[in-house]
Amino acid sequence: MIGSEALPFAKTGGLADVLGALPPALGRLGWDATLVLPRYRGVRDGVFVDRIPISVGGQPAKVGFFEARVSDRATAILVDAPDLFDRDGLYGSEHVDYPDNPRRFALLARAALEWAALRGTRPTVVHAHDWQSGLAPVYLKTLYAGHPVLSGTPSVFTIHNLAYQGLFSADWMPRLDVPASVFSQEGLEFWGQISFLKGGINAAEAITTVSPRYAEETQTPEFGCGFDGVLRRRAADLVGILNGVDVDEWDPQRDPYLPAHYSAADLAGKAVAKSELLLRFGLARDPSAMKRPLIGMISRMVDQKGLDLVAALADRLPVLPASFVVLGAGEPKYQDFWRRLAARFPDRIGARIGFDEPLAHLIEGGADMFLMPSRFEPCGLNQMYSLRYGTVPVVRGVGGLFDTVREGATGFVFDQYTPEALLETLRRALAAFGNPSKWRELQLEGMKQDHSWDRSAREYVTIYEKVSRNPG
Ligand code: ADP
Repeated sequence: MIGSEALPFAKTGGLADVLGALPPALGRLGWDATLVLPRYRGVRDGVFVDRIPISVGGQPAKVGFFEARVSDRATAILVDAPDLFDRDGLYGSEHVDYPDNPRRFALLARAALEWAALRGTRPTVVHAHDWQSGLAPVYLKTLYAGHPVLSGTPSVFTIHNLAYQGLFSADWMPRLDVPASVFSQEGLEFWGQISFLKGGINAAEAITTVSPRYAEETQTPEFGCGFDGVLRRRAADLVGILNGVDVDEWDPQRDPYLPAHYSAADLAGKAVAKSELLLRFGLARDPSAMKRPLIGMISRMVDQKGLDLVAALADRLPVLPASFVVLGAGEPKYQDFWRRLAARFPDRIGARIGFDEPLAHLIEGGADMFLMPSRFEPCGLNQMYSLRYGTVPVVRGVGGLFDTVREGATGFVFDQYTPEALLETLRRALAAFGNPSKWRELQLEGMKQDHSWDRSAREYVTIYEKVSRNPG
């Protein structure tokens, strides 16, 4: 497995959660997984095992390999190339990408394949994630096509977010160790540039995305970010596999950040969490406040998450029979919006700007509903946490949200990306909250859902078995 970030080593986003959880989950199914990622600045894990010369584009480098055990059958190999990876950021600093990212991630792919070759036995499959690993499937089809160990190794490529495409100037072509022939529409050429993402999509035997619905959506102009045609061409080999959630980390029966624990059999602890949550946000918690539905939001404050819809309802949300608690950080205009709204309606609306893991757990535990009105959502994790915590999700039916929340059964779902549709759906949810037995049914149905990694890992295994039976 090849990727640019993984827990517990390095994280900027959801990819790290996936690459932290999937290899051990595969291990539980009897597969040996080796994950190769960069040894960024500050990563101390792993013991040194080897150092070999690897050249990319004729530039030689001495590349070290550090090995860290992740679980019984899963190992991480950290690629040590200080010139390329010992830097402030993973992909850039101060919001500017490093100009040599093509070289950095070409080297990651090369190092992973060289490591595999050193083992002397062909891997069953190479699984590459996102554009940073997009050259690995290309190399397998070109540079390593006649390799004594790696020849014929099939690959799987996973798209975690199509908005990130690894686009670079065509000038890079001679410096990446790929033949000129791959600079084509069926290779990695994208409107005159190079796209590592496109290379991965076109060269892998199978392509996956992180939810079935997103797999369909990405084939449409609305969601395809210019890649819908590329993906339609590969539709027969494209599947969506939902991410799992870490069920140890997110469990209302033993969550250390909750003041009381609860389960589907006894939800009493949820009211204790609600009271604590109201207190934490400085909202009233008298009996009438405790009875009023509490709507939570935890989100990066960016356009993707539907915050423009919420902002359009600035005057209408506060007059709903509900309270709101919001946690997030991101674009200043959205941060200011929530700060101002909380200042105007201090008894109904609480906003906390920043990143706060313990508070995120308390919101999942203490809120009655969770709002996620995303414009697009490849998978989404918070709605799955909400289901496990008996916190009924109110979502826009896109991507992973469509796949995990069922209208009227486990939550409330709207289609049109309009403030009116969002408001109407919130009203529907608030009406249902007024019927305690109906509400309890919604909570319990959500709490029954299985979003464990083991289930997702089994689906990946099905793909691995398929491509290794019929390598391309
Ligand atoms: P995305 O990866 O697009 O941000 P996801 O729902 O897939 O969205 O995952 C976001 C993760 O980050 C969740 O685990 C969520 O709880 C967490 N998160 C986002 N913002 C914050 C925050 N301000 N404080 C704590 N956790 C946050």
